[in-house]
Amino acid sequence: MKERVVFPGDKIGNVEEFKAGKGVYEENREIYAGIAGYLEIKDRVANVSAFKKIPELRKDDVVIGRVVDVRNNFAMVEIARKRGEDRDLGHKNLAMLHISNVGKFENIANALSYRDIVKARVIDATPKISIREPEMGVVKAFCSVCKVDLVLEKGKLKCPNCGREESRKISTSYGKGEW
Ligand SMILES: [Zn+2]
Repeated sequence: MKERVVFPGDKIGNVEEFKAGKGVYEENREIYAGIAGYLEIKDRVANVSAFKKIPELRKDDVVIGRVVDVRNNFAMVEIARKRGEDRDLGHKNLAMLHISNVGKFENIANALSYRDIVKARVIDATPKISIREPEMGVVKAFCSVCKVDLVLEKGKLKCPNCGREESRKISTSYGKGEW
């Protein structure tokens, strides 16, 4: 099953499919997330484990992570690493990227997609991140149809397989494999 990020009120399933565990509630035979966090299903029991603050992060740090959820006004990014450190953080934690911190995109779905790798600036330690600076944004993206890496060509991201063009908030480090 795909790893899923949930927010309070998100429907997880019904009582025939799952048993309600921690961080969820049952209403009219449906199971909903009660807190924001990662949904984990084990032996048909649905649990939500809460997001935690990332103690290693401070305002102005640069981080790299993977987009794990895109909603109307924000995306959630799983932070893997902090610039200046060789190793991964070693635990799963999420940062919030609000549409107001993306730049001149009215729709966040035109700036990011599920599974994209992004470079971002920490703007507060809760943590919230921003990709407004030219250096920040998507550093690796995948074709939404073929799933292969999109290639940067004359400022646009194109699928080398099907030729599809996709819109992203592209980092100046896109495709360079360094950050
Ligand atoms: Zn493609």
